[in-house]
Amino acid sequence: MTDQLSIADPHCSDKEGGLLIPCDIPGADAWAKRRHLLDTADLTVPEIECLMALAVKCKKLHETTRAPISVLNNKIVANLFYENSTRTRSSFELAAKKLGASVLNLDIKTSSITKGETIEDTASTLVAMGVNAVIQRHSSSGAAHKLAQALNDEVHVINAGDGWNAHPTQALLDLFSMLEIRPSIAGCKIAIIGDITHSRVARSNISLLKKLGVDIHVAGPPTLIPKYLASLGATVHSRLEPAIENADFIIALRLQIERQQQGLIPSIGEFQRLYRIDHKRLKLAKPGVHLLHPGPVNRGIEITDELMDDTNVSLISRQVASGIAVRMALLFLLLSEQTPSKQRFSNVV
Ligand code: ASP
Ligand code: ASP
Repeated sequence: MTDQLSIADPHCSDKEGGLLIPCDIPGADAWAKRRHLLDTADLTVPEIECLMALAVKCKKLHETTRAPISVLNNKIVANLFYENSTRTRSSFELAAKKLGASVLNLDIKTSSITKGETIEDTASTLVAMGVNAVIQRHSSSGAAHKLAQALNDEVHVINAGDGWNAHPTQALLDLFSMLEIRPSIAGCKIAIIGDITHSRVARSNISLLKKLGVDIHVAGPPTLIPKYLASLGATVHSRLEPAIENADFIIALRLQIERQQQGLIPSIGEFQRLYRIDHKRLKLAKPGVHLLHPGPVNRGIEITDELMDDTNVSLISRQVASGIAVRMALLFLLLSEQTPSKQRFSNVV
C-alpha cells in the first residue's frame, strides 16, 4: 500500500476546470467525515494520498489562474495566531482566498484574547461570527485539541503549530515537496538534523513519514534530542555523518536560538562545527540528495549560505509554493460541501 503513494495524474478537475473530489480517490470518504486536522498522527495513508492528489491539482490551479476559483465562496476562515508567523499565516490566507473564501485575521495583540479571555469564550465568539474554519498557532502544546473540544465540532480546527507538539501542514508540505522529486518515498532514507526537542516540525514529520515506510534518521546535540525519539521509530545519532550518509533527503531544522539561554548547547559555533550542512558534508549523502528546511532559516547556522542558494539541492523555495497548494487542498477537503458520495450521485445523473 505505502509504496503506491504517488502524486501523479490525480483527475481532480470538473468540466469547468474547478476542483473535484473524485469518488475513486482512496481516503475521500474519510475526509468527508473528518472535522479537524490537529496532527499528522491522526491521518490514515488513504487520507494522505487523497490530500496529495488534490494538492497536485491545486498547485496547477494556483500557478495557472490568477483569479480565485469560486469553490468556497460562502465560507469564512479565521487566522488565530498567538505566536508570530509570516510564512504559515500568509500561506493559509493565500490558499483560502484562492478558493474564494473570506479570511478574517484576528489581531491577537489588540484583542480581548490577550486580556485573559478563556479558550471557551474565544470559541463562542468564533461560532457567533459564523466562522467555518479556524487556523490556530499557539505556544502551548495541546492548544489545538483544546480549541477543537471547546468548539464542539461546530467549526473546523486546523493546527498551524502548537508549542513543541505538532505542525501538521508543514509536514504535509514537506512530503509534497519530496514527492514532486521522488514519486514514491517508501524505503527512502530521510535525515532530520538539529534541534529536535523544540521542533513540532520534526514530530509531525516523523509520524507522517513513518506511516509511509520511510527510514528516518535523526542527528543533533544529545541535549536537543528527546529520550523517547527512538520509540517513535527513528534511528538516533549524536553525530551528523551517519545520519546523512546515503540519505535521499535531509530536513534541517531551525536552531531555536531564543530557547538556548537554557544552555542546552555549548555555543552556536560548536553547533555549526558539528551539525551545519554544507556541500562537503553533502557528499556523504546519496547523489541527487535534496535539502529541506521549514524556515525561517538562521543563515549560516543550520546550512551554509552557498548551499541554501543552490537550487539543485535546496527545496526551500519549492516548500513555500507547495505550502499554498497543500493548504488549498486541505481547506477544500474540510470545507467543501462536495462529498465523494454526492460526487458519485452527480456522476450518475
Ligand atoms: N515559523 C515561521 C513562520 O511562521 C515559518 C512557518 O511556520 O512557516 O513564518
Ligand atoms: N516554522 C516552523 C515552526 O513554526 C519551524 C520553526 O519556526 O523553527 O514550527
